[in-house]
Amino acid sequence: MTELKDYNQKRDFDITTEPKGQSQPNITAQAELRYVIQHHWSRREHYDFRLEWNGVLLSWAIPKGPSYNPNEKRLAVMVEEHPLEYRNFEGKIPQGEYGGGTVMLWDEGWWQPFGDVEQGLAKGSLKFVLKGARLKGKWALVKLADNKDGKNNWLLFKEKDDYAKDNTGIEQFTNSIRTGRTKEEIEQGAEFQTMHNPFDIASVQLAKLATAPPKDNGWIYEIKYDGYRILAFIEQGKAKLLSRNNNDLTYRFPSIAQALASFFLQERWC
Ligand code: MN
Repeated sequence: MTELKDYNQKRDFDITTEPKGQSQPNITAQAELRYVIQHHWSRREHYDFRLEWNGVLLSWAIPKGPSYNPNEKRLAVMVEEHPLEYRNFEGKIPQGEYGGGTVMLWDEGWWQPFGDVEQGLAKGSLKFVLKGARLKGKWALVKLADNKDGKNNWLLFKEKDDYAKDNTGIEQFTNSIRTGRTKEEIEQGAEFQTMHNPFDIASVQLAKLATAPPKDNGWIYEIKYDGYRILAFIEQGKAKLLSRNNNDLTYRFPSIAQALASFFLQERWC
């Protein structure tokens, strides 16, 4: 079990509303491992990337944030371990305190390591799958050769797979994954927004190869035509059509977007 000494030493819990550091029993063997990213506007804007391990959150500060483009390797400075409870923290850290500024829960979900994590940490190479709402697929954290500035510098990057993109792929996400609030709304202490769209984290269904049809009833077959897999998001009378890589295809298929929007308006479903 880790003691979170560094974490507690850096903070005055009479002033900040961040959780006090208490490590949890190590339940990582039998449970799914949590992952969270917090967008943090402190003296220097960055994203905090945190992976549950041994009852705490291993933490890296990423100045530019993650990128879905495998060619964009992002500096990730390993910082002090944080308590598990920190994965629920969103709000303001008072100015003058350690990390003073605004914290937004930017992504959350689970992570699944490839191979032995302790060995990976010791060797400086962690490979894993992220199952977040915004970050998915295979990623890697690789430690840089010893740094002169005494920092624990790593690189975070996307590994090539079906989720990889040729652009950063994160700019469109400017609100909290948990509360829907923007940075300004968090600063003003706004109430949590209702997420209008319950399918914010949906993915398209993909075909799987099989050698035989299912044995039970309740299935049909259809000829596979070429085309796009698209998710339609409908909110406040507007439809948005997104491809599986989050490319906006609304203007490519305007008649479908309009038909969906007016159908749901008539049905008063949104
Ligand atoms: Mn931070």
